[in-house]
Amino acid sequence: MYSTKRFEATIPVAEYLEHYVDVNTFLECCRACPNYNAIWSCPSYDFDVIEYWRKYKTLDLIAVKIMFDEAYAGKEFPEEEIQRITEASVKKVKQELSEELLDREQKVPGSISLSAGSCIRCESGCTRREKEPCRFPDKMRYSIESLGGNVGLTISKLMGIELEWMESGKLPHYFVLVCGLLHP
Ligand code: SF4
Repeated sequence: MYSTKRFEATIPVAEYLEHYVDVNTFLECCRACPNYNAIWSCPSYDFDVIEYWRKYKTLDLIAVKIMFDEAYAGKEFPEEEIQRITEASVKKVKQELSEELLDREQKVPGSISLSAGSCIRCESGCTRREKEPCRFPDKMRYSIESLGGNVGLTISKLMGIELEWMESGKLPHYFVLVCGLLHP
């Protein structure tokens, strides 16, 4: 159904903050998202986002392009089928990246990973909606975009990939998942 291609880049956090992070703009996008205040990995936060970035010196970025086969790419499908194909492909790659990054954290003392999008660990839904603490605080990680990072700019400038926006009723040619590891 799909194949994947991996891209990597490394950038000093100070440079990333200067050119790729715009907390106020991206916070506005988050406020319009149903995950706002509903998932612990998403805003609003009880900490200063810029200070969070500044605790680290270097950012390793990983992007995985999920490219659909010819029979699927850009083709029309009923919305439920698009949803099913999207979930089946993105969720699997996202889970693999999450485990890989948690593993890499163990090898780099003081590092912390940035997840590819919001947390989807709990099948039953996030506890934040019930105002209960996160079930897996040791595994929950913030995403680049939730900390104000411009993912589209990041992958186009640093990895040469353009984001493809979804067209209603059609499966895109590809999705791109972006995550990373912050080093002290
Ligand atoms: S691990 Fe579960 S409770 Fe914690 S942020 Fe993720 S979905 Fe929510």
